[in-house]
Amino acid sequence: MNNQVKVNGGYPLHTFEQLKELYSQYITDENDLKSIEDAYNFILKKHEGQFRKSGEPYYHHLIEVAYIIASLKCGPSTITAGLLHDVVEDTDVTIEEIEKRWGSEVSKIVDALTKIQRLKLSRFTAEDFEAEDHRKIFIGMAKDIRVIIIKLADRLHNMRTLASLSSERQLSISKETMEVFVPIAHRLGLDNIKCELADLCLKYLEPKKFEEITSLLSKKEKSLKKSLNAFQKRLADIIFAHNIPFEISSRVKSVSSIYEKMYVKGHAFEDIYDILALRIITETEMQCYEILGIIHQTYKPVPGRFKDYIAMPKPNMYQSLHTTVVSGDGNFYEVQIRTKEMDEVAEAGVAAHWAYKEHTGYNPKEEQKEIENKLHWFRDFVSVSNENHDSANEYMETLTKDIFEANVYVFTPHGKVIELTNGSTPIDFAYRIHTKVGDSATGAIVNGVMVPLNTILKTGDMVEIKTSKNSPGPNEGWLEFVRTSLAKSQIKKFLAKKNADLVREDKIAKGKQSVIDAFKDRGIEEDEALGMALDDKVVKNFEFQNSDDLLIGVSNRKPTAAAIIEFLGIKKPITLPLGKSRNTQGGEVPVYCRGADNIAINLASCCTPVPGDGIIGYITRGKGITVHRSNCPNIANEKERLIDVYWRDDIEFATYPVDVTVEANDRPNLLVDIMNTMSSAKVTISSLHAQLQHHNRALTIVSMTIYISDAKRLSDITNILLNVKGVYGVKRIIH
Ligand code: MN
Repeated sequence: MNNQVKVNGGYPLHTFEQLKELYSQYITDENDLKSIEDAYNFILKKHEGQFRKSGEPYYHHLIEVAYIIASLKCGPSTITAGLLHDVVEDTDVTIEEIEKRWGSEVSKIVDALTKIQRLKLSRFTAEDFEAEDHRKIFIGMAKDIRVIIIKLADRLHNMRTLASLSSERQLSISKETMEVFVPIAHRLGLDNIKCELADLCLKYLEPKKFEEITSLLSKKEKSLKKSLNAFQKRLADIIFAHNIPFEISSRVKSVSSIYEKMYVKGHAFEDIYDILALRIITETEMQCYEILGIIHQTYKPVPGRFKDYIAMPKPNMYQSLHTTVVSGDGNFYEVQIRTKEMDEVAEAGVAAHWAYKEHTGYNPKEEQKEIENKLHWFRDFVSVSNENHDSANEYMETLTKDIFEANVYVFTPHGKVIELTNGSTPIDFAYRIHTKVGDSATGAIVNGVMVPLNTILKTGDMVEIKTSKNSPGPNEGWLEFVRTSLAKSQIKKFLAKKNADLVREDKIAKGKQSVIDAFKDRGIEEDEALGMALDDKVVKNFEFQNSDDLLIGVSNRKPTAAAIIEFLGIKKPITLPLGKSRNTQGGEVPVYCRGADNIAINLASCCTPVPGDGIIGYITRGKGITVHRSNCPNIANEKERLIDVYWRDDIEFATYPVDVTVEANDRPNLLVDIMNTMSSAKVTISSLHAQLQHHNRALTIVSMTIYISDAKRLSDITNILLNVKGVYGVKRIIH
């Protein structure tokens, strides 16, 4: 076997000459070329004698990182900084030296990367600190998009060579990559990097499923090859006959995106339509639509599968037409149609927009601004990053919602499309239009109907905000339902300003109340709560002079009471010191029965009770107690074998399966919308089945098994489902 192949995780190692060949295709300026070569010679000397865990000399890592960067056609400073990204951290070189040799632009990037790297040194094992770490990584990256690109390239090469690390490190690095870097790559539209990162993560996090999907894919590809080729040729002939310029190719879906469809969204492999897709690249937008028309004339499109991302680009700027058609031999194929420019954006995302072009007055500051304007989430992310005192967990939560979750598109009364995080409300919409609109909002009209301000918006809604000069402005309650970080931070800003007008005593009282309320949630009484929250170590940690100042801080949400609780490491209370109740398999169950500690307790599968439901125990022969909902018809006639049972409240967090049916008027995308809604509500669906009713073709019954924590949550989810367009009934099933 070729030793070189093994060394670099099975990827070919590039030489500096190959790297040079790549960037010389678009960089020709003498000074720029010299600056990159200088960096190469510099790191060759400085990292001499250092080796990677995988065995090769360290500089290979730097060439590979630079190679990934140059593949995205990034400018000379980015490539230079890519080569230098580890030199300050790992050798005796100082940042001043970098600035002297390569100027402040390169040194600023290297400095940011070094600071992110150093976070690792102070890593704690507790999860709270991981959230804090991630927050700092985000902040470090947000100021300059080039820092993100280099960090992604660095991570990609580290993932490619992950095999040489311990299995413990493999897992923790893959997890961090999946949680932090994959979503960022996705949101920046760096699709190639995103897919490769996600596939590599999956290989380490879910090795069995990774293998399973890989083999399913290759089997499918083999069996469909002939049919695909025939279809591709036929399509080419038809388009050719219309005299439209085009190129056609096919692609196989990535392992990680199939994993998501199978294990997150609950599809069977056979039901995934776009495993093999054809891609048609043409010249103009008009020709895209012409080609679509030609295809639909010849092949029957599958209803609900047509998507016009040209008119409505994805948040990461992706544009294309998608349709799924039935080929002559009965197979389904997805066809993607787009222009050459759209294709470049699809592959390299944000990088394609500002691919380095020489002598065009390239200005990094302007470029950063342009990116922040194009990708609204990025702007929010920068503005939210500047707030210091919120708890790390809260920050991560808001941010991940914005960056990682699916989106809805709504319209202004003038027909402008506004993109929002799933679950957004008219208030989120108002702040996206303008801070003033949000601050003075008094009502909302959605599709011509007055609705509450916390109504969840759906794609296609037309939204109008009523404002008034005399509006009292946002209140704390709004923070409970807004979804976007922009709205959150603007509301907080408004509240902080209002708070500034209160007199000192009022602020202290307000802060006290916040502390008392938050601690009460954790089962801690007033006196004790204040004692804990105002302890010297808390005052000191949040950098206040005394406890009154801390309370004033809390009144202003800097810090929030939640952050104090997080700092003190207070977990949810455990109040029920009962003997542990177990089910037949020995697992813990959330129900207990007085005086029956040693009897197995199982939740009935007919009526699937969840915490909060009225319940009753049924004594079975030999199997202990089965817990039914009190109104379950299966025990309606029982009298003698019933026994009182109670929900335990000492179980921290668990979810239980519940079978529900959703009744809806059939329409395109109904299932997709239901699933997106569930996924943005963070509900796991373990099975889903949809059926058109025979007596009424417009009626669809969707049966699914979802996992939820308790009855309150179930009723929330029911309401969320009822908000999906077309849905008119949600029922819990008893078998
Ligand atoms: Mn590195």
